[in-house]
Amino acid sequence: MTKLSRCACCDGPLEPAQQLRFLVETANLDNPEYLERIRVLPNANGKPIPVCAGCQTQLEDHLAARKTRKRAAPLSLFGALSLGLLFGALFTTRGA
Ligand SMILES: [Zn+2]
Repeated sequence: MTKLSRCACCDGPLEPAQQLRFLVETANLDNPEYLERIRVLPNANGKPIPVCAGCQTQLEDHLAARKTRKRAAPLSLFGALSLGLLFGALFTTRGA
């Protein structure tokens, strides 16, 4: 086994499992269909980026949060609108 790579994010040592994933994904760069099925690591222009397990978790959390925010935006707009309607209705009732 070659010497361990370092994490592209924090420059810390890669865990053997992450190193193995990096080696396997790099070895399958010319086999995109198979690579797509086994892909675990983040990638840039299709090339796997060696990251340690800690940074990978953070990256995934970050990506998941971004997706959630995108989905939540129309919902909160709708929430604000219906809240506005509710308050509008309350004040109208009181005023009358
Ligand atoms: Zn790291």
